[in-house]
Amino acid sequence: MHLYIHVPFCIRRCSYCDFSIAVRKRVPAQAYVDAVLKELGSLDAGPMPGNASTIYLGGGTPSLLPPDALQVLVRSAWAATAATEPEVTLEANPEDVTLDHARAWRAAGINRVSLGAQSFDDTVLKWMHRSHDGAQTQRAVQALRDAGIENVSLDLIFALPDELHRNWERDLETAAALRTPHISLYGLTVEPRTPLDRWISRGATHAPNEDRYAEEYLAAHRRLTAEGFEFYEVSNAARPGFRSRHNSAYWSGKPYVGLGPAAHSFDGKTRRWNLRAWEAYRRAIAEGRSVIESEETLTDEQHELEALYLGLRTVEGVPVAARYRPLPPLLAHGWVHEQGGRLKCTPEGWLRLDSIVNSYDRTTV
Ligand code: SF4
Repeated sequence: MHLYIHVPFCIRRCSYCDFSIAVRKRVPAQAYVDAVLKELGSLDAGPMPGNASTIYLGGGTPSLLPPDALQVLVRSAWAATAATEPEVTLEANPEDVTLDHARAWRAAGINRVSLGAQSFDDTVLKWMHRSHDGAQTQRAVQALRDAGIENVSLDLIFALPDELHRNWERDLETAAALRTPHISLYGLTVEPRTPLDRWISRGATHAPNEDRYAEEYLAAHRRLTAEGFEFYEVSNAARPGFRSRHNSAYWSGKPYVGLGPAAHSFDGKTRRWNLRAWEAYRRAIAEGRSVIESEETLTDEQHELEALYLGLRTVEGVPVAARYRPLPPLLAHGWVHEQGGRLKCTPEGWLRLDSIVNSYDRTTV
């Protein structure tokens, strides 16, 4: 069992972000913790999580919660799910990481931190509306290490508009020099109604360039592999022993329970999701109503397609079965290959994951 807790608060909205967040100068920590603990308590009547092997605090910006609030959340989740030594991840923004906070997080049971670094270029960070600078990320990694949290991941965004003149190689070099054991990559996408979408509509900036996307992705793959990382999933690279157990569970179709606004849960067949907005979620909890906004049950065909898509995202790929015969053009282009009875994407194939899965969809499923 895997438990996700969504913390929706951010101090401002980043230029590319369309996540379900509540922008707050002051985080209503007590009200939030009370609401989530009530939801956790209500699981007794529903799909009780069982033995949690991972707990993930994502957002939003979970590191905006005071350490004592995080401690209550982690300890309660731990107790309710009979967890023994779970992987406990906190998503954190670099400006929230001080040595005192890092020590308090460690004492609360947090043993993995995913840092929203994005870039080390201050001009780029400003353009993204991030509230940290590159030096703060470097200090944050050191503070986490000093507090005993070695398992740190850096998030980096690539494929930025040409006019920013972002030096991707230099950012990769800086990230590698920090020697964190995990790096996650995100290609910039333009989501509707974000500041970035509006800038592009009025011609103030250009949409991300597809060639740059492919070049920078492949450059990261080469560079990080040479540094000793393994790309164990299309967007995630880890040094040996440092794969994210929580995210790996999503990719292998394991059940999970989500708490908090907009959180999703999955029992292996049915996916449910909570009310998106913090205020709507808080009111529903206060009035004793269900916080589930909706649900969908996967058909066998949807289940199979999802397993194919998720499996091909990973370095393990999918078993070569009659329904998973690779199409000759995919092999000829070098986008997929067969190895040990499994079908796996190459880095070039990962760039074309959607069209690879769609080609199976049309011809074999
Ligand atoms: S910190 Fe993360 S969740 Fe918050 S606005 Fe920025 S990208 Fe979105």
